[in-house]
This record gives sequence, structure tokens and C-alpha cells, in this order.
Amino acid sequence: MRALVKYAEGKGNIEVRDVEMPKINKPDEVLIKVHACGVCGTDLHILNDEFKSYPPVTLGHEFSGTIVETGTSVTKWKKGDRVVCEPFTGVCFRCETCRRGWVHVCEHKRSPGWGINGAFTDYVVVPDIFLHKIPDNVDNVTAALCEPLAIVTHEVLERGEIGPQDFVAVIGSGPIGILAAFAAKENGASKVAVIDKASGTALRLPTAEKVGADYIFNSDDLDAAKAILDITGGKGADLVVEASGAQGGIDLAVNTVKKLGTITAVGIPSSDRISVRWGDLIKKVATIRFNLSSSYTAWDRALSMMSNTKRDLSQIITHRSSIEDWKQVFDDLIAGKGVKAMFIP
Ligand SMILES: [Zn+2]
Ligand SMILES: [Zn+2]
Repeated sequence: MRALVKYAEGKGNIEVRDVEMPKINKPDEVLIKVHACGVCGTDLHILNDEFKSYPPVTLGHEFSGTIVETGTSVTKWKKGDRVVCEPFTGVCFRCETCRRGWVHVCEHKRSPGWGINGAFTDYVVVPDIFLHKIPDNVDNVTAALCEPLAIVTHEVLERGEIGPQDFVAVIGSGPIGILAAFAAKENGASKVAVIDKASGTALRLPTAEKVGADYIFNSDDLDAAKAILDITGGKGADLVVEASGAQGGIDLAVNTVKKLGTITAVGIPSSDRISVRWGDLIKKVATIRFNLSSSYTAWDRALSMMSNTKRDLSQIITHRSSIEDWKQVFDDLIAGKGVKAMFIP
């Protein structure tokens, strides 16, 4: 079968190759026929060697599929079940982090798509413990949005603890920012503003508006912090979702969060050192919560949102492509000419 493979460490070193069909090796594993697999910012970082991978490895971790074979100890799942999969393969279940329920940040994690072979191909093998059933009314391609939606479910609902009435400011309009706006609105936020630079105005900000944002702001064009203070009667945002990882975005988060408000941080900065106006945060008695990956509980919540929403989430999918066209797809995403791309085998 054909697969998009990172074949060696270093910049680039990605190509479509013929690989062997994976086999079930352990009794708790299932073989899945892949329906769709989303291209994530992580994949672009792997291309540039900015995110660790274990080559040779098939990329792709945001997938949906149907079970075609089950290992001997698998009882909960059967052939024909449509599923999505938490990318938490390799976690130890024994360290303090795992024992406290935070398996998604276990240091032993080796996710499909960078730690073990992933789903930019036809078939993938994973342990059954990480599977979740796709609701009947969610189509196969939209279901592949579950992983990024679980990330924002964790950051906005579980870590950000939004409630009815909350004003939410989302900084950055990539797939995570757009899905954060969606999740906030689905869960009772009064108003959601999504802010990005001029590069987001052609495609990304309008997409955020389509799936739930009440306001979209181009921060190159106006003073976004002032705009949010104006809307909130001078108070500021109850919750700020920092999904840009950029210095300007982090400054805006500090300026925008209300007194006693919360910043939930998910954007990964390009440099580990970022300047933060610490004193302002102390004076605001603000809370910052950092996030990485998605929790176990976020997956069924994300699937429930997908199943029950009246909004059309599939609007964020701009590419339905073959892995043979991966170069063009990656280039489009890097150039901002796409929001979420799916590889369909
Ligand atoms: Zn991802
Ligand atoms: Zn662990």
C-alpha cells in the first residue's frame, strides 16, 4: 500500500512510498481501514524537523476508519465499527502523570504519525483501548476532525471552564482557533471573538465566523484589545484562548483577559523564550492554564458535539486530497490557502 513516510531525520525527507500492510501483533490490537486523515500543524513541523519523529514512520494521527480485524482479546469492538483513535500509543500507564489520569502527556507517548506508523495510508494498527465510536450521523471525513476538536474541548471546556455568559476571545484562526470558537459557542459562551492578522482575512477568519464566531477581527487593521474592551463594557474577556503562539498574540492575550479571567494557552511558540508582561497578569490576578494534547474525557465530548451540533463543521475542510498530492497540500496550508486538509485513501 502507498503511504506518506518520513524516511530519515532532518528537514524534508518525506515521500510517498510502498509499505507493507500492517499486521495485528498483540491481542489487544485492531486493524483499521482508514477513511480520512487530517493534516495537522504537527505534520508541517515534522516536515521541517521541528517536531521529533522516529523515522522511517508513516505520518498522520487525525484519522477516522472502520475496523476490519480484531485481536484475540478485543471484546468491546467488532469488524465494521466506525472509530476514531486517541493518539496516546506508547504511554506507560505507570508513571505519576499516567496514574493521575494525564496519560496524554506521559513522556513515553509515541503517537501514530510520528512515534509509530500513522494513517496517511490505507490501513493502521492501534490498541483498542484508545478507540471511540463515531456517532451514526457523523460522516467519515468530518469524524477525522475529532482529534483537534478533542484538543479544544480539553482546553476550552475542561481547562478553560467556560460557562454561559462568558465572553471568549480566541487569538489565532488556524484549525485549533476556529474549532475553539465552535466549541465555545456550542457550550454556551455568550459571544466569541476570533482575532488574527491580515493573513487570516481571506479564508480563516471567515471560516471561524461560519462555525460560530460572533466577531472576527484583523489585528493588523484595528486595535483588537480595544475592540474587545469596547464590546465588553471595559471589562475584557472572561476566557482568552491563545492559539497563535506568537509574541503579538500573547501580548494581546494579556491585554484582553479580564480581571480574574483565564488565559488557556495552546499555541506553541516558535521560540521557547517569549516576553510576558508578568506584572499586568499579577494586577489582573489572572490564571494561565497551559495545554498539550487532549484528555480521554474530551473525546466523547467532542464526538457528542459533532453529533448534536446544528453548525456545519465540515466547512473547515478545504482539501480532500490524495497523499500523492501531499506537496501541494502542505504548501497550500503553509501559505494560508487552506484550513484543514484531509488525505482520503
Ligand atoms: Zn493534530
Ligand atoms: Zn506514563
